[in-house]
Amino acid sequence: MLDVRPIAAFHDNYIWMIRGTGEPRSVAVVDPGDAGPVLAALAAEGLRLEAILATHHHADHVGGIAGLVAATGAQVFGPARERMPVAFEPLAGGARVSLASLGLDFDVLDVPGHTAGHIALVGHGALFCGDTLFSAGCGRLFEGTAAQMLASLETLGGLPEETRVFCGHEYTEANLRFALAVEPGNSAIMDYVKRAAALRAEGRPTLPSTIGLEKRVNPFLRSSRENVKSSAERRAGRMLPTAVDVFAAIRSWKDTFR
Ligand SMILES: [Zn+2]
Repeated sequence: MLDVRPIAAFHDNYIWMIRGTGEPRSVAVVDPGDAGPVLAALAAEGLRLEAILATHHHADHVGGIAGLVAATGAQVFGPARERMPVAFEPLAGGARVSLASLGLDFDVLDVPGHTAGHIALVGHGALFCGDTLFSAGCGRLFEGTAAQMLASLETLGGLPEETRVFCGHEYTEANLRFALAVEPGNSAIMDYVKRAAALRAEGRPTLPSTIGLEKRVNPFLRSSRENVKSSAERRAGRMLPTAVDVFAAIRSWKDTFR
């Protein structure tokens, strides 16, 4: 199994550190919003940063890239349709990124919605999805439409169920409170609430999740379910004839949910 470890940054971001399969002292990081904690992790274990992968342009995901490049000379890969703080290798959906020195290959998926050019990376049974799919939630629609985000989430939902899901933020407990409001009778959500609370009480991440778990608990992957549709319609006070209507209603409900 791919060796992936979280580096906590800011209030609730995760920078994911991936070890090379052949050379475990060589690593890549995903979405380094801050260089400091990455440099500390490299120094603590004598690791060499070979590659930096970015899913989208938000500062809390790319803010550490320039500092890391200056300190390590690592190669930078980012979304072809977004701006990055430094020169980078552009990645677009359908491409495959090969990190030869790490023995790692990832397929690139276009997942617009949170930002217009957001990409996700999938390989070795792991998905790095930035702020598109969260555990029990999804990113806000800053630059894309509900239809785009729903299509992006359906792409991710079509990955093998055992795929491990490495998201950009620790939002799981708040997301689960919302998921239960949408589906009060969903026992998989209730079980996950307990498990997430136990992990957080020990200071441990709830991530990675899996695609299979997300399909059982995540309202944004369940908008075609009859109970989710009727819950969204009660909330919206009107009929929601299409899957996009249901998804858009759940997304805007979540935006104001406390
Ligand atoms: Zn973001």
